[in-house]
Amino acid sequence: MHSRFGVGADWPISYDELEPYYGEAERIVGVAGPAAGDSRPRSTPYLLPPHPLSYATTKIAEGCQLQGLPFIANARAALSEPYDGRPECNYCGNCNRGCPRTDKGSADVTFIPKARETGRCEILTECHVTRILAGPNDRVTGVAYRDASGTARIADARSVIVAGGAVETPRLLLNSGGEFAPDGLANESGHVGRHFMETLHWTSSGLHQDHLGSHRGLPADGICWHYNAPDAIPGIPGGFRFGSAAREIGFNGPVAYARRVVPGWGRAHKAAMRDAFGRVVSISAIGESLPNDASYIDLDPAEKDSLGLPKARIHSHLGDGELRRLAFMAQTCREVLMASGVVEMIEEFGAYDTFRPTHVFSTCRMGDDPADSVVDRFGCSHRWRNLFSADASVFPSSGGGESPALTIQALAIRMARDLVERARKGTL
Ligand code: SF4
Repeated sequence: MHSRFGVGADWPISYDELEPYYGEAERIVGVAGPAAGDSRPRSTPYLLPPHPLSYATTKIAEGCQLQGLPFIANARAALSEPYDGRPECNYCGNCNRGCPRTDKGSADVTFIPKARETGRCEILTECHVTRILAGPNDRVTGVAYRDASGTARIADARSVIVAGGAVETPRLLLNSGGEFAPDGLANESGHVGRHFMETLHWTSSGLHQDHLGSHRGLPADGICWHYNAPDAIPGIPGGFRFGSAAREIGFNGPVAYARRVVPGWGRAHKAAMRDAFGRVVSISAIGESLPNDASYIDLDPAEKDSLGLPKARIHSHLGDGELRRLAFMAQTCREVLMASGVVEMIEEFGAYDTFRPTHVFSTCRMGDDPADSVVDRFGCSHRWRNLFSADASVFPSSGGGESPALTIQALAIRMARDLVERARKGTL
């Protein structure tokens, strides 16, 4: 983004370098995706065939076609066929609440069981790391934590990998300052907490002219990548993508309709519910977020958590580019909805109205120069040679709306290979 468009920061690694690890992560998670039309170049096809679009989503596809926008099945970490001992999706639409069938490829049914099968992984639940322990010679020695009963404990470690996300990772590092790191751990450059990039999101919902059964189906089953490239929106650097969203934003049951679509009471309400239920069509867009000096994470000087540790404070500022991109995203969502057969808009909201922490990035960004980054190209602190970060805090840029989970996983697998190599060479 910096070299080509003069904004944000460059990644120190190329897409080609990371691409094979995406495929590897997808094979662990179980990803179903389309054979063609994806904006991201691939060296291997998706593991599983794409999910069929729900009937409601086919209406959005028709709207996109009328607008000249390509619309395809979205790649999803949900199984279109049984895989690795897990059943296929039944399209109940409740992924956001946790998948009862274990077909959604979340870590609890993929990476963690595989790690435990090795016999070399122990999971300590309900523990709270309070501090990473820094020692002499630029090495960390372990972590201090409270266990489930509240007892203070120490875990010694040859290396420490932090994966708390773009808010809690910088918080933990800043809370771990002391004799060897007076400005916070790994904060020699002063960049821990800086360059916070939030979820630039927009959602428009409307009532379709027909009954579609839009409460059924896989959430976010269809997507348009047309505006994903950094130069896709005229005059505004940074891309976005949009797709179907009714189930994703909770329009999958009568309570949501009663609260958000059909107010009222009694017989009239009942009749209105019968008329409206299953007709909501929603489109959500997620866009590029570029760093600015007013968006960052620091420690709250007043608010403390239950253990007495300073909470993270999120400073969020949308710059002029973000607001213009957001306006373009909103306009696109509305136009596609109307072209899809929506007859009445019922709800709109976006990053201007509500902060959403689903896709947040940077705050410990990776780079080759220790003066303007926190970790190197493998996620290792520039100074602390056995301290690593493996989450979206290391992202130098947010992408044009891509969800960060697979990139986190690809980076983590690449980091694991590097750790093995360091251990073999005796440099860990
Ligand atoms: S729609 Fe989501 S929650 Fe339901 S079975 Fe499929 S992956 Fe699981």
